[in-house]
Amino acid sequence: MADEENHIDIENNEEKIEVCYTCGKEFDMNSDEGAHYHYGKYPMCGYCTNFFGFYNEEMMGKK
Ligand SMILES: [Zn+2]
Repeated sequence: MADEENHIDIENNEEKIEVCYTCGKEFDMNSDEGAHYHYGKYPMCGYCTNFFGFYNEEMMGKK
């Protein structure tokens, strides 16, 4: 599976704390399972990713 690569440029393996734009919770982008940038720029934590089912970013290529 190549899902983990997505389109995200990971500069390093250190913690990357982001604030989830959906729930407002801080999370570590690099360690939170399923966490990603929705639409390539909105940080979304793993919880919301699973909750809203946004893990599949098939919409990414369709504007
Ligand atoms: Zn969240």
